[in-house]
Amino acid sequence: MTALLQRIGEAGPITVERYMELALLDPDHGYYTRKYPFGAAGDFVTAPEISQMFGELLGLWCYAAWQAAGSPHPAMLVELGPGSGTLMADALRAIESATGAPQPFDIVLVEASARLAHRQREVLSGRAVSWCSAVEELPSRRPAFVIANEFFDALPVRQFVRTAAGWQERLVMVEDDVIAFVLGMVTGSLAASLPDAQTGRVCETSPVRDGLMRDLAAKLATEGGAMLVIDFTAPGMPVRDTLQAVRHHRHADRLTAPGEADLAAAVDFAALGRIARAEGLEAFGPVSQGAFLEELGIAVRAERLKRSAPPETAHGIDLELQRLTSPDAMGEDFRVMALLPAGTVAPAGFDG
Ligand code: SAH
Repeated sequence: MTALLQRIGEAGPITVERYMELALLDPDHGYYTRKYPFGAAGDFVTAPEISQMFGELLGLWCYAAWQAAGSPHPAMLVELGPGSGTLMADALRAIESATGAPQPFDIVLVEASARLAHRQREVLSGRAVSWCSAVEELPSRRPAFVIANEFFDALPVRQFVRTAAGWQERLVMVEDDVIAFVLGMVTGSLAASLPDAQTGRVCETSPVRDGLMRDLAAKLATEGGAMLVIDFTAPGMPVRDTLQAVRHHRHADRLTAPGEADLAAAVDFAALGRIARAEGLEAFGPVSQGAFLEELGIAVRAERLKRSAPPETAHGIDLELQRLTSPDAMGEDFRVMALLPAGTVAPAGFDG
C-alpha cells in the first residue's frame, strides 16, 4: 500500500477536497511535489507546451491591459501555477520584441511545488523573478496583471451526491487496503445551498477556488490590474461530476493511484464571474479559447513563424495552431475569462 493510501486510511473518510489536496500537494507524496507532469514523457500537455504562440499572445494581452491602465509603475506580471515556466518565458520575450524595450513588470510566480519552482527558475534564468507559494503572499499596493492557465482546475473541489434522502457529501476512505467513495451527511444549511437535482446526480463546488477568486478580485478592485483565467469547463455545471485523473496522456481511475496521476476538475466560470463582480470587477466572457486566440491574431503570428522556419517545421506550426484553436482539440472546451476593474472598456479578444 502506498504511503498516501495509508495516510488516507488513518485519517478516516476524508472529503474529495482533502483527497485532491493530499494527492496533488502532499509535501512528501503529492503529484505536483514529486512528478514532472508536462510534455510527451509526462502525463499531459498544456497550451504553452504545445506552442510558443500561446504565451506570446497572453503576454501581449497583459502588456496591452497595462497600457490601457495608464502604464502604471511599479506593476506586477503574475502567473498562478506556472508549471514549467514556459508561458512566462514566451510572454516576456514577446513583450520585449514587440516594444523593443525591457519588459516593464515585476514578475511574480505563485507556485506551491518547490520542484516546479526550481524548474521555473531554470527556464527563466537571467530574469529578475520572485516566487510566492500562495496567492495570499502576493505583494500589495501595486497593480497586478495576472495569468491563470490551467490553475483553477488543479484547486480542490467538494462533491455532493443526490440521494433519496437529499444531498450527501462524497467522501474517500481506505479500508482493508481498498480505496473507495462513500457517502457522508451534510448539514441542512449546506444542503440548502446546493441546487435541486435528480437522484444520483453529483454537484461540485469549490470553496478553495471561490475564496481565492474573492481575494484576487478584491485586490484587483482596489489596487488595479487585470486577470485572464483560461481553463477547461463542462456544460451544466455545477451539477456535473467532472473530477478526472490523467496519467501518461490517458484518463485513469480517480482513486487508484493518488500522487501518481494528475487530478483536475472543470472550472465553473459562471461561479467565478459572480464572485469577481461582487468584489467590484467587470467580468468579460468566457469566450472559447479558439475565438480568443484568433481575435488576438494567432493566424498572423503562425504565418510569420512559418516564414522564418525551415520547411520541415512549417507544417508543425499549422498543427500547433490547430491544436490550440480547433473545436476538436482545445479550441472549444477551453474557455477564457477576463476580469478588470469596473468601468474598463472591453479588452482585446472580448470586444467582438
Ligand atoms: N499553468 C501551467 C501549469 C498547469 S498545472 C501550464 O499551463 O502549463 C498546475 C500548476 O499549478 C502547477 O504548477 C502546480 O504546481 C500549481 N499549483 C497547484 N495547486 C496550487 C496551489 N494551491 N497554489 C499554487 N500553485 C498551485
